[in-house]
Amino acid sequence: MNDNLIEITKNGQTKSPKLPDHLKNYIVDIDGIICEDCPNEDIERMKIVSEISGAKEKINALFEAGNIITFFTSRTNEQHKEITENWLREHGFKCHKIIFNKPRGGNYIFVDDRGLEFKTSL
Ligand SMILES: [Mg+2]
Repeated sequence: MNDNLIEITKNGQTKSPKLPDHLKNYIVDIDGIICEDCPNEDIERMKIVSEISGAKEKINALFEAGNIITFFTSRTNEQHKEITENWLREHGFKCHKIIFNKPRGGNYIFVDDRGLEFKTSL
């Protein structure tokens, strides 16, 4: 469990833990947010896509401040895991986790019992 998570009990029952208010879980897309957009079908281009200016500095500053950085991408675990991990490492992006296989096509609606805030850029 993340060292920053706070355990919660209510009426003697343990509840799901939470981060302290000053830390956030950043769930960040890859294509179009930290690098130029590349469709899953173009694997060779995916290896050499350009960074979006300023994205690495913002992500790494959030990471260094103690926030949790999770990349959430429609790239697949089966075809793009190694390419994606290599690209992130070679370009110096810090993160705690990568979640693959996000549904493609956008128009997302997230339903969660925790607070949500949405942005379309960093
Ligand atoms: Mg995208």
